[in-house]
Amino acid sequence: MQKPQSEKITKIHLTKEKLREVCGEQIFSRGFEYVCSKDLRKRVVFKNSLFAEVRGNYGVYKTQLLVAGDKIYPSCTCPAEMYFCKHAVALGLTWIKEPQSFLNVEDLLKSLKSKTKAELIDIIRQMVVKSQNVLSVFGIKEFEDYNDEEEEEYFDDEDNEMER
Ligand SMILES: [Zn+2]
Repeated sequence: MQKPQSEKITKIHLTKEKLREVCGEQIFSRGFEYVCSKDLRKRVVFKNSLFAEVRGNYGVYKTQLLVAGDKIYPSCTCPAEMYFCKHAVALGLTWIKEPQSFLNVEDLLKSLKSKTKAELIDIIRQMVVKSQNVLSVFGIKEFEDYNDEEEEEYFDDEDNEMER
């Protein structure tokens, strides 16, 4: 018997070799510290992206890896100035080792199909109470995530520098 989850997991074709090639030996080995660690939490997979929070030396960082075919695009809120940081490496390696430890958002969304409208509205209510930032999905500008905007700019700048 095959678990329904396993077919989705293969959507991200990530190998250790590929990761090492993209980020370089030094950063690659520095990532080991957090691989499958308790400090790498809230592991999520959604389509071809991986997300997690990492408790680092100076705070909690949001780390993300987008895998598009042969390309890997990292992003992280940590202060490291490298394009690829050790947290993003750890996220990728943790995915390779323990894919079952990631929450699959597509599965979660599927499970919502059986909910009634009233149940869904209640879920939305709970989300709004938990974080007012979610109000931005309704197109309410005032609630758009301030930090996200800043982060995007930051990463754009870095991308440009990489191309130069
Ligand atoms: Zn980082």
